[in-house]
Amino acid sequence: MKYMKSKMPVPRRIALVAHDHRKGDMIDWVKNHMKKLTRHTLYATGTTGKLLEEDLHVKIIRLKSGPLGGDQQLGALITEQEIDMMIFFWDPLEPQPHDPDVKALLRLAVVWNIPCASNQSTADFLISSPLFEGEYNRWVPDYSAYMNRSVDH
Ligand code: PGA
Repeated sequence: MKYMKSKMPVPRRIALVAHDHRKGDMIDWVKNHMKKLTRHTLYATGTTGKLLEEDLHVKIIRLKSGPLGGDQQLGALITEQEIDMMIFFWDPLEPQPHDPDVKALLRLAVVWNIPCASNQSTADFLISSPLFEGEYNRWVPDYSAYMNRSVDH
Protein backbone atom coordinates (compact mmCIF):
# COMPACT_ATOMS: atom_id res chain seq x y z
CA MET A 1 0.00 0.00 0.00
CA LYS A 2 1.26 3.47 -0.88
CA TYR A 3 0.62 6.35 1.50
CA MET A 4 0.52 10.13 1.36
CA LYS A 5 1.24 12.22 4.41
CA SER A 6 -1.43 14.61 5.60
CA LYS A 7 -0.69 17.17 8.30
CA MET A 8 -3.40 16.99 10.93
CA PRO A 9 -4.82 20.47 11.53
CA VAL A 10 -5.06 22.18 14.92
CA PRO A 11 -7.67 22.58 16.22
CA ARG A 12 -8.51 18.96 15.59
CA ARG A 13 -11.94 18.06 14.26
CA ILE A 14 -13.22 15.42 16.64
CA ALA A 15 -16.34 13.28 16.21
CA LEU A 16 -18.22 12.09 19.31
CA VAL A 17 -20.81 9.32 19.03
CA ALA A 18 -22.41 7.14 21.69
CA HIS A 19 -25.12 4.53 21.54
CA ASP A 20 -27.95 5.00 24.01
CA HIS A 21 -26.58 2.77 26.80
CA ARG A 22 -23.15 4.40 26.43
CA LYS A 23 -24.28 8.03 26.42
CA GLY A 24 -23.72 8.36 30.18
CA ASP A 25 -20.14 7.12 29.71
CA MET A 26 -19.62 9.65 26.92
CA ILE A 27 -20.90 12.53 29.05
CA ASP A 28 -18.60 11.50 31.92
CA TRP A 29 -15.64 11.19 29.56
CA VAL A 30 -16.22 14.57 27.95
CA LYS A 31 -16.69 16.14 31.39
CA ASN A 32 -13.36 14.67 32.55
CA HIS A 33 -11.53 16.04 29.52
CA MET A 34 -13.54 19.19 28.99
CA LYS A 35 -10.62 21.64 29.14
CA LYS A 36 -8.66 19.86 26.44
CA LEU A 37 -11.62 18.94 24.24
CA THR A 38 -13.11 22.41 24.07
CA ARG A 39 -9.93 23.71 22.42
CA HIS A 40 -11.01 21.67 19.38
CA THR A 41 -13.91 21.51 16.95
CA LEU A 42 -16.40 18.95 18.14
CA TYR A 43 -18.89 17.11 15.96
CA ALA A 44 -21.53 14.70 17.24
CA THR A 45 -24.46 12.68 16.04
CA GLY A 46 -27.81 14.27 16.93
CA THR A 47 -28.79 12.86 20.30
CA THR A 48 -25.26 12.54 21.63
CA GLY A 49 -24.67 16.17 20.66
CA LYS A 50 -27.92 17.37 22.21
CA LEU A 51 -27.05 15.75 25.55
CA LEU A 52 -23.53 17.19 25.52
CA GLU A 53 -24.90 20.65 24.78
CA GLU A 54 -27.62 20.44 27.44
CA ASP A 55 -25.64 18.74 30.21
CA LEU A 56 -22.21 20.26 29.69
CA HIS A 57 -22.89 23.38 27.59
CA VAL A 58 -20.28 22.29 25.06
CA LYS A 59 -20.33 23.83 21.59
CA ILE A 60 -21.02 21.04 19.12
CA ILE A 61 -21.61 20.77 15.39
CA ARG A 62 -24.63 18.51 15.46
CA LEU A 63 -25.41 16.09 12.65
CA LYS A 64 -28.59 14.06 12.25
CA SER A 65 -29.27 11.35 14.80
CA GLY A 66 -27.15 8.26 14.07
CA PRO A 67 -30.00 5.92 13.06
CA LEU A 68 -31.47 8.67 10.85
CA GLY A 69 -28.34 9.14 8.77
CA GLY A 70 -25.94 10.82 11.21
CA ASP A 71 -23.50 7.90 11.07
CA GLN A 72 -23.47 8.16 7.29
CA GLN A 73 -22.95 11.93 7.45
CA LEU A 74 -19.94 11.32 9.67
CA GLY A 75 -18.64 8.65 7.32
CA ALA A 76 -18.89 11.13 4.45
CA LEU A 77 -16.98 13.76 6.47
CA ILE A 78 -14.23 11.23 7.23
CA THR A 79 -14.04 10.38 3.53
CA GLU A 80 -13.72 14.09 2.68
CA GLN A 81 -10.84 14.37 5.21
CA GLU A 82 -12.91 16.68 7.41
CA ILE A 83 -12.73 14.62 10.61
CA ASP A 84 -9.38 13.95 12.31
CA MET A 85 -10.40 11.49 14.99
CA MET A 86 -13.44 9.76 16.39
CA ILE A 87 -14.57 8.66 19.83
CA PHE A 88 -17.35 6.18 19.23
CA PHE A 89 -18.73 4.42 22.31
CA TRP A 90 -20.75 1.72 20.58
CA ASP A 91 -22.84 -0.76 22.52
CA PRO A 92 -21.48 -4.33 22.44
CA LEU A 93 -24.52 -5.78 24.22
CA GLU A 94 -27.48 -4.44 22.28
CA PRO A 95 -28.49 -4.97 18.65
CA GLN A 96 -28.82 -1.69 16.76
CA PRO A 97 -31.43 -1.01 14.07
CA HIS A 98 -28.78 0.84 12.07
CA ASP A 99 -26.08 -1.81 12.39
CA PRO A 100 -25.04 -1.50 8.71
CA ASP A 101 -24.41 2.23 9.26
CA VAL A 102 -22.40 1.54 12.42
CA LYS A 103 -20.26 -0.99 10.57
CA ALA A 104 -19.82 1.39 7.64
CA LEU A 105 -18.71 4.21 9.94
CA LEU A 106 -16.17 2.02 11.75
CA ARG A 107 -14.99 0.70 8.41
CA LEU A 108 -14.39 4.20 6.99
CA ALA A 109 -12.36 5.16 10.07
CA VAL A 110 -10.02 2.30 9.13
CA VAL A 111 -10.12 3.01 5.39
CA TRP A 112 -8.92 6.60 6.02
CA ASN A 113 -6.67 5.77 8.95
CA ILE A 114 -8.10 8.15 11.53
CA PRO A 115 -7.55 7.48 15.25
CA CYS A 116 -10.71 5.92 16.64
CA ALA A 117 -11.52 4.91 20.22
CA SER A 118 -14.41 2.59 21.03
CA ASN A 119 -14.06 2.52 24.78
CA GLN A 120 -13.13 4.83 27.62
CA SER A 121 -9.62 3.53 28.27
CA THR A 122 -8.61 3.82 24.61
CA ALA A 123 -10.11 7.31 24.54
CA ASP A 124 -8.03 8.18 27.65
CA PHE A 125 -4.86 6.96 25.93
CA LEU A 126 -5.75 8.97 22.83
CA ILE A 127 -6.43 12.24 24.58
CA SER A 128 -3.37 11.99 26.83
CA SER A 129 -1.00 11.29 23.94
CA PRO A 130 1.33 14.16 22.96
CA LEU A 131 0.06 13.55 19.42
CA PHE A 132 -3.46 14.55 20.43
CA GLU A 133 -2.68 18.24 19.96
CA GLY A 134 0.91 18.11 18.73
CA GLU A 135 2.23 18.03 15.21
CA TYR A 136 1.22 14.85 13.43
CA ASN A 137 1.45 13.70 9.86
CA ARG A 138 -1.20 11.10 9.31
CA TRP A 139 -0.50 8.50 6.67
CA VAL A 140 -3.45 8.56 4.30
CA PRO A 141 -3.62 5.51 2.06
CA ASP A 142 -3.15 6.44 -1.59
CA TYR A 143 -6.16 4.97 -3.34
CA SER A 144 -5.35 6.54 -6.73
CA ALA A 145 -4.53 3.18 -8.33
CA TYR A 146 -7.91 1.86 -7.17
CA MET A 147 -9.75 4.98 -8.32
CA ASN A 148 -8.14 4.81 -11.76
CA ARG A 149 -8.53 1.07 -12.20
CA SER A 150 -10.09 -0.15 -15.40
CA VAL A 151 -13.12 -2.38 -15.14
CA ASP A 152 -14.29 -4.72 -17.88
CA HIS A 153 -17.84 -3.91 -18.91
P1 PGA B 1 -27.37 9.52 18.36
O1 PGA B 1 -26.70 8.50 17.37
O2 PGA B 1 -26.26 10.32 18.96
O3 PGA B 1 -28.26 10.38 17.51
O4 PGA B 1 -28.10 8.73 19.36
C1 PGA B 1 -25.74 7.62 17.84
C2 PGA B 1 -25.65 6.46 16.90
O5 PGA B 1 -24.93 6.51 15.92
O6 PGA B 1 -26.34 5.49 17.13
